[in-house]
Amino acid sequence: MTKPSPLTAQWDWQLNARCRYTGSDLFFARQNEGLGERLRRERDAKEVCSQCPVRQRCRDHALTFAEPFGVWGGTTESDRRFQRASPSTDTPRMTGRSSVKLRVSPTHPRPGMKERRMPAVLP
Ligand code: SF4
Repeated sequence: MTKPSPLTAQWDWQLNARCRYTGSDLFFARQNEGLGERLRRERDAKEVCSQCPVRQRCRDHALTFAEPFGVWGGTTESDRRFQRASPSTDTPRMTGRSSVKLRVSPTHPRPGMKERRMPAVLP
């Protein structure tokens, strides 16, 4: 899918983004980022998103245009891949409140939650 046109009306929602002045380091992986570091960064980014007034619009954008990288609208790239792979989801809408019920990947901690280790599988 092609990206939305450069009309300001398509992007004005970003003016109210909570991450507007935080910099992108929290939302996008840096080179050679370790797994634990990534999970902590994504958890912290999701915490910022959880208080953002345009979270739903941001999430809709990321799902509609299949943003391949970063945390958008409280979803990580793997959350969105998981969402796209699920055959039972609705198509996200571009305006208004979304009807999309986001399924978050079970491997990602929710904001404010500590990472949980999966129990070891014994033979
Ligand atoms: S939902 Fe998160 S990534 Fe999207 S604009 Fe808000 S703070 Fe930024």
